[in-house]
Amino acid sequence: MKMSKMGVRPEKTSPKDAEAINQKLLIQAGFIHQEMAGVYSFLPLGLRVLNKIEDIVRKHMDDIGSELIMPALSPKEYWKTTGRLETIDVLFKASAANEVSLAKSEAEYVLCPTHEDVVTPLIQTYNLSYKDLPVSVYQIQTKFRNEPRAKSGLMRCREFRMKDLYSFHTDEADLKRFYEEAKKVYMATFEEIGIGKDTMVALASGGDFTKDYSHEFQTRCENGEDTIYLDKTTGIAYNKEVKPEGADTNSNFEIFSAAEVGNIFPLGTKFTKAFGYEYTDKDGSKKPVVMGSYGIGTSRLMGVLVEKFHDEKGIIWPKNVAPFLVHLVDLQQTDEANSIYEQLKKEGIDVLWDDREMSAGAKFADADLIGCPIRVVVSSRSLAAGGVEVKLRQETESTIIAIDKLTDYVKNV
Ligand code: ATP
Ligand code: MG
Repeated sequence: MKMSKMGVRPEKTSPKDAEAINQKLLIQAGFIHQEMAGVYSFLPLGLRVLNKIEDIVRKHMDDIGSELIMPALSPKEYWKTTGRLETIDVLFKASAANEVSLAKSEAEYVLCPTHEDVVTPLIQTYNLSYKDLPVSVYQIQTKFRNEPRAKSGLMRCREFRMKDLYSFHTDEADLKRFYEEAKKVYMATFEEIGIGKDTMVALASGGDFTKDYSHEFQTRCENGEDTIYLDKTTGIAYNKEVKPEGADTNSNFEIFSAAEVGNIFPLGTKFTKAFGYEYTDKDGSKKPVVMGSYGIGTSRLMGVLVEKFHDEKGIIWPKNVAPFLVHLVDLQQTDEANSIYEQLKKEGIDVLWDDREMSAGAKFADADLIGCPIRVVVSSRSLAAGGVEVKLRQETESTIIAIDKLTDYVKNV
């Protein structure tokens, strides 16, 4: 992608009213644009990161489920059936916005904050028997929640992206088996995104779903909203809301801030009973289907990554989710820059080419702000020295390498 054609550009300063680091850096660098509190546009750079995160999530979820997509707009009746039309404290509705529209239809809909209430009657339609179960489906989609405190950039939004998977089983034992499998797949996903070693499973309240624990995937993060109590002997992590008695004063517990990047729930029969969803067992008897639900906050993850990986100059993206692997800085509009750009693209390498007419200092500042893993500078000086100047984002030293060695170098970073 050529920066001159991107349609948006990095700003010199961060927005004054931004509170969180991810919000400051992502807006300043031109990844996202705030439309109102908790609602953002994903700009060309930001969408690339979001897509990379979601592609990694999708690859791993394909191991345990089939992708589909459900609507964001849903009938109120579903939510009446489960009782959640009254109880979800962040529920949004959609209805006609003006008189002319109202004249056509007075119908009101729920803008989905999650999809248990939609997926249960959906799967129920297919009347699966014990032979067909278990089944699991997932989607990666936009969710809506009337969050009272939408101020931490992508960490807490009113419109945000989520991967949500739902599993359907004949009994609790099969749910338990699948649930443990899902935990492993989740950890592999976070590992590939670049936060594996800082992410752990924490016990949390089951909310209104279950009297058992639910399990959160919590990533160490200073600006995270959650407090985790890690028992250093057993390795068990607890969300503050379920911490063992005496943990506060017990030196055996490490206490730290974290951000919830995923949450899985053994739903049991809460939703299937509400919809009267039963399957036919071997002996012909009818039994309620047992469910689990499994969420990952894909847009929150983008915020968490910036909170964790940045310095005073800007973002430092982990390689697997960087918008581009290479940031090509061209100081004198050389022909070499064009051929390097084409060559790297031909090799399947993602390159952002700063082809704008600007000072070297301004281009370097933008490269640091945007945070691609490898900076490649082409200038008359680098060419005289034998090639291009390469530098990794987190390092200060650069080196000159020959142009014909560049592709190999980049592939091996
Ligand atoms: P939280 O406890 O942070 O409010 P939650 O428990 O209500 O989240 P879930 O319903 O389990 O969240 O949603 C699955 C995932 O979606 C969460 O683990 C989180 O990563 C993400 N998520 C939830 N709410 C938001 C939000 N308002 N903005 C961005 N991401 C969110
Ligand atoms: Mg949660």
